[in-house]
Amino acid sequence: MLETARAFRRGATTPTRLVGELLERIEQDSLNAFIGVDHEGALSQAAYAEGLLSARPDECILAGIPLAVKDNICTRGLETTCASNMLAGFVPPYDAHVITRLKQAGAVIIGKTNLDEFAMGSATTSGNRGPARNPWNPAKSAGGSSGGSAAAVAAGLCLGALGTDTGGSIRQPAAFCGLTGLKPTYGTVSRYGLVAFASSLDQIGPLARSAREAALLFDAIKGHDPRDATSVARDYPPTPLDALDLRGVRIGVPPEMFGEGLCPEVERAVREGVALLGELGAEIVEVRLPHVHAAVAVYYILATAEASSNLARYDGVRYGLRAANPQDVCDMYLKTRSQGFKEEVKRRIMLGTYVLAHGYYERYYRKASQVRALIAEDFRQAFAACDLLAGPTAPLTAFELDAMADDPLAMYRLDIDTIPASLSGVPALSLPCGFSEDGLPIGLQLMAPAFCEARLLGAAITFQEHTRFHEVWP
Ligand code: GLN
Repeated sequence: MLETARAFRRGATTPTRLVGELLERIEQDSLNAFIGVDHEGALSQAAYAEGLLSARPDECILAGIPLAVKDNICTRGLETTCASNMLAGFVPPYDAHVITRLKQAGAVIIGKTNLDEFAMGSATTSGNRGPARNPWNPAKSAGGSSGGSAAAVAAGLCLGALGTDTGGSIRQPAAFCGLTGLKPTYGTVSRYGLVAFASSLDQIGPLARSAREAALLFDAIKGHDPRDATSVARDYPPTPLDALDLRGVRIGVPPEMFGEGLCPEVERAVREGVALLGELGAEIVEVRLPHVHAAVAVYYILATAEASSNLARYDGVRYGLRAANPQDVCDMYLKTRSQGFKEEVKRRIMLGTYVLAHGYYERYYRKASQVRALIAEDFRQAFAACDLLAGPTAPLTAFELDAMADDPLAMYRLDIDTIPASLSGVPALSLPCGFSEDGLPIGLQLMAPAFCEARLLGAAITFQEHTRFHEVWP
């Protein structure tokens, strides 16, 4: 991305030429990374970027940079489906806040990427478009739910991408595809124009090859937006693209994140990554997160409860699918929702409706909210004793596409390492820290206190200045 920005300025290539090349490559793509490609729009944005580049070459680093966007983020005039039959043919009349910001920066939105239906999943297999494949091994999952975005960046079909992370959907695909992926602090990036899954958790963030590039994208999309009631009004200083001097930085390692189920190869690479941070000057300390063992259970109560409420809007009346030939209005609701949603989404709507039902609310939803507060408190206390936390992003490397097709609970349990930061709202990123014996990337997760993205990204940049994992292409 940064080399390309320089190449544009030297005249070595142009946005139009690059976009043309990528569009051709996307056409040949067999990873199923994209759901929709915007040929015309991308070329006209490229032409606009060329104007920016000649008028203001010193600004707008993102001018002409081709990016992909997860297909649950609204793009004006461009179909936005959430990989669901429910939204097939839905063309938003407006851009999400993040899209407006990227376009202002001159970036080129080349297309919309594959995902799990409504971002519910960890493998990009639950949607209506078939699975996204992992460029490191097409028999394996690209991770999920932002698997299309991750596959597209890793395969070189675009230079960066936006994903969304509710319980790990940016970080885990980044880990599986050898990328750097950032889930920002909740409230830092506007959710205006993001199709809601679980509103108290959803955040948009970047996937890129390096932490520096992720910082560049994060910088373009962050900031207060009055159209999102949870967008935090505060000062957002520019995100530095510099390495962080790790001397004196305390990095906490919670043993709870190295528990049962962690694959030994992943553990080794992550511990080596932490050791390297120590060699670079950080002080490695042990910290405890005593309640995170409950995080997966808490998440799957709260996220499904919020999803059941958010997805109630798809009733065949206002927009999206309406089933043909209903007998009456109830039949119309029933048929529309039966035909519009696939299995995983239905499962979650049922689960979420159940935990919110009269009598169960106290037993499940309220209790889960209370435990969520305890988990957030764990993080607050941990960050009194350290500046960053480190652990694995996922307990495994990329798995076979159908490995968990019949076992949703096994899939849910894989979110164990990413969910804690989601529940507590703190920023977290995944960066590559090694490879498994069969050549699959492994992700190291770093977490920081709320609004400390600069520290998080700075530490990742330092790590990448001393390692080459992020420079290896599939
Ligand atoms: N894998 C988690 C889930 O299925 C997280 C999804 C996400 O972050 N969008 O809910």
